[in-house]
Amino acid sequence: MLRGSAGEQVLTSRPASGLCIGGVTPFTSIDFPGALAAVVFVQGCPWRCRYCHNPHLQARGGPAGSDWPTFAAWLCRRAGLIDAVVFSGGEPTLDPALPAAAAAVRALGFRVGLHTAGIYPQRLAALLPVLDWVGLDVKAALANDRAYDDLTGRPGSVRGPRAALDLLLTGAVDFECRTTAHPALLDDTALLALAGSLAEAGVSRYAVQLCRPTPGSMLPPVDRDYPAAATLQALDAMFAGFAFRRGD
Ligand code: SF4
Repeated sequence: MLRGSAGEQVLTSRPASGLCIGGVTPFTSIDFPGALAAVVFVQGCPWRCRYCHNPHLQARGGPAGSDWPTFAAWLCRRAGLIDAVVFSGGEPTLDPALPAAAAAVRALGFRVGLHTAGIYPQRLAALLPVLDWVGLDVKAALANDRAYDDLTGRPGSVRGPRAALDLLLTGAVDFECRTTAHPALLDDTALLALAGSLAEAGVSRYAVQLCRPTPGSMLPPVDRDYPAAATLQALDAMFAGFAFRRGD
């Protein structure tokens, strides 16, 4: 049995029309490896990560950026122009309409990607049959409960991503683990230890995404020499696929 975050419930699915969309990126080549994709940002997240790049998506009742019928009609006109749709957030598995939305995207002939922090592993398990790729956010060492809680602002938060990774490692859906890195939260030594534990667990694709503090963030800008070149080389040697995303 999967053990997720405290309070995880298996939700009753809702129609795709109920998906709470905070925004849409119509075209990206970097959010689903090897595919041209649109990104749907689902509104709502129960965590409060110190570096969150999308704080406007945290509140479930935030301003709507689009609605499903409008998006679905637009997507029908994208056939042949894009390959995939990625559901991101926020935490998209929070939304009970996600399974129906993902299935609808599949039925239109597009591949389906998911960005998740692994907060609700049981919901991820139920979604896997309609997913083609998952980007699992690993925020800190999965053996370090305290580091996870400090970063997410939520006690017991590591249980979800731990179970989500187990699920992905034993499943058939392509996935990547990714870490948003800032030297004040994860120095080079900690980053290498985190990556090493993932490689040891059997993860073959890993990405480091540099944290870009939002205006008003308590975190300082990141120097160009983080992570060190030697750290990047070591990370590259650990995985069959490694990517460093500076974001500029
Ligand atoms: S899990 Fe993602 S969306 Fe939620 S607070 Fe953390 S960084 Fe923001």
